[in-house]
Amino acid sequence: MTTPDLTQNYQKLTRAVSECAREAKHPVAMLAVTKTWPASTVRACAALGQRAFGENYVQEALSKIDELADLDLQWHFIGPLQSNKCQAVAERFAWVQTIDREKIVALLSKHRPANLPPLNVLIQVNIDDENSKSGCTPDAVRELASCIAAMPNLRLRGLMAIPKPTRNQDGTAFKAMAQLYKTLQNEFTGIDTLSMGMSDDFPLAIQHGANLIRVGSALFGARAPKAET
Ligand SMILES: *Cc1c(COP(=O)(O)O)cnc(C)c1O
Repeated sequence: MTTPDLTQNYQKLTRAVSECAREAKHPVAMLAVTKTWPASTVRACAALGQRAFGENYVQEALSKIDELADLDLQWHFIGPLQSNKCQAVAERFAWVQTIDREKIVALLSKHRPANLPPLNVLIQVNIDDENSKSGCTPDAVRELASCIAAMPNLRLRGLMAIPKPTRNQDGTAFKAMAQLYKTLQNEFTGIDTLSMGMSDDFPLAIQHGANLIRVGSALFGARAPKAET
């Protein structure tokens, strides 16, 4: 991706997002998802004013975080989280959006360095896909939220979901997430983030209450296929 293309995509996207936010009457932030893209691409995007970046693979992310340490960026972990990666994630990221079980809650809190602010976390909800291994069931959200709220080094901020497009054509999954989010807000303090919507469906997500969208391909172009690591 050349810099002029990225500049054009970024401007187009930020305009589209603020238009949707205006119609939905609430502010919306955008996370730039940079998995598979090199540090130089992140740097070019940061130069356009973007601060928050999302990464899915821990090793890949750590090398970019190191390389871009001179910039004041906010890193979100948005990939499936294994127990043996919790320490690195707790030490190097500001946010984790993919909390789905108690085991990783305890590990993230244990490994969050004392000199850093609490790690911001979102519970990932498996809203529509019984076959997916990622995300907790809607029924399990409350108990997981209580578990997070009891951890000294974590700060529960809200919910995240990756609905299957085929199950969400009319926004059914987004609507269900908005309802869960409202319930969570009534029961816990500090809940201010509903992360849903990607390149292909962010306008619908914002319409249903998303205030953090995660955008990759609409910004940087199609990703080359990457082997799982
Ligand atoms: C890759 C990814 C995105 C971005 O997807 P695009 O369709 O490229 O915008 C958003 N969220 C998560 C969790 C992802 O893994």
